[in-house]
Amino acid sequence: MSFESLGLRAELVNAVSEKGYSDPTPIQRQAIPPILEGRDLMGGAQTGTGKTAGFTLPLLQRLMLPGKPEKGRRALRALVLAPTRELAAQVSASVDTYGKHLPLKSTVIYGGVSINPQIQKLRKGVDILVATPGRLLDHVSQRTVDLSTVNMLVLDEADRMLDMGFIRDIRKVLALLPRQKQTLLFSATFSNDIKRLAKDLLKSPALIEVARRNTAAERVTQVVHPVDKSRKRALLSFLIGSNNWKQVLVFTRTKHGANRLSKQLLTDGITAAAIHGNKSQGARTRALADFKAGKVRVLVATDIAARGLDINQLPHVVNFELPNVAEDYVHRIGRTGRAGNEGEAMSLVCVDELKLLKDIERLMKRDIPKEVIGGFEPDPSIKAEPINRGRGKQQPVAGKSARKNAASARKRQRPDARERSNNKSRSGKKPKNRTGLSAR
Ligand code: AMP
Repeated sequence: MSFESLGLRAELVNAVSEKGYSDPTPIQRQAIPPILEGRDLMGGAQTGTGKTAGFTLPLLQRLMLPGKPEKGRRALRALVLAPTRELAAQVSASVDTYGKHLPLKSTVIYGGVSINPQIQKLRKGVDILVATPGRLLDHVSQRTVDLSTVNMLVLDEADRMLDMGFIRDIRKVLALLPRQKQTLLFSATFSNDIKRLAKDLLKSPALIEVARRNTAAERVTQVVHPVDKSRKRALLSFLIGSNNWKQVLVFTRTKHGANRLSKQLLTDGITAAAIHGNKSQGARTRALADFKAGKVRVLVATDIAARGLDINQLPHVVNFELPNVAEDYVHRIGRTGRAGNEGEAMSLVCVDELKLLKDIERLMKRDIPKEVIGGFEPDPSIKAEPINRGRGKQQPVAGKSARKNAASARKRQRPDARERSNNKSRSGKKPKNRTGLSAR
């Protein structure tokens, strides 16, 4: 099946073939026709399936109807909401790529960078706006964006937007949009909150689902390496070195943990950079560019920072720590095995995390094979200690409410402080290397 046979116009077909795509992916085959018909859509799609082109191509085509854009200042007609700066930037780049032969204008707005250049671009008029919810509301409050003419709305990675505490912001934005519009909602997982949002928002939507609900990317080989917490860093260095991995994305649970691990890898002679919500946008862009270019071998990321990263043919993902929420595991391993490539996801799991592992296996309805690496056998005398069971929110990357949300999440959890007090209350003295990463 070709892109042409899906009913896409020549300018779009040319743009995708210049990008090197010959056939539409399954989600593109399913999503493009109903969107072209003007239907609402609820898309269950894992990351890496080609969903961005799946909604961007028909969206661009719909904006070309019934004729060319009117003369004078363009009215904003399509709004795409995305949870993170990185995803917003990637969606915006896709809009530019696929729309390059069409006379449509788009721009992207997100927090963490100066608002003024964004205001300038909006003032000139755009047809399509890609935005993170927090920064969009900043523009709304400054009256630098008018949402009253929007007739297409896309919520991309809606589950993650809810996880990041954006629901109130989203509802505020929705209240500013015309009732009559076409709405597309994409989500990798379907919690009750997502179903509720979809029910409120979508009118007789086309339902499409590419991967089975809540299952991990099928092409990704998964394995658990049981290991003591204090030996995880050594095992990671060993795996990277002995397998000569050139590009590894490593997940930690906290920003602090990401910083600490990337520094420690450097002392092991492995080039590494950390990416998380406390880093400036410049530092994050640089770290990602260096990683993509092969200048650093390891990118250590928190869940939210990694969301939306599109790194072609990323071969290895390592969960240095399991996520607190099982769904995040699915997102994490979705960073590899993208668009037809093979991928490998490893989890270094200590005794404290066995309950988290069970949750993940239950969600995926399968056991993940366990493989103990020689020399890193777990010490059976070590007893499980409680780990932070909070929601695991990192500082969200855009918007005021997100920042507020992060502050309250921090207040609730403070994993390092809690871990210290747990250890202290147990032994009454300094912990015996249970925090792990300092062991060499
Ligand atoms: P997405 O799920 O939208 O993040 O896309 C995942 C990756 O697949 C991106 O690198 C896209 O450039 C790529 N991609 C999208 N559509 C196609 C296609 N039809 N053929 C090959 N690669 C594609």
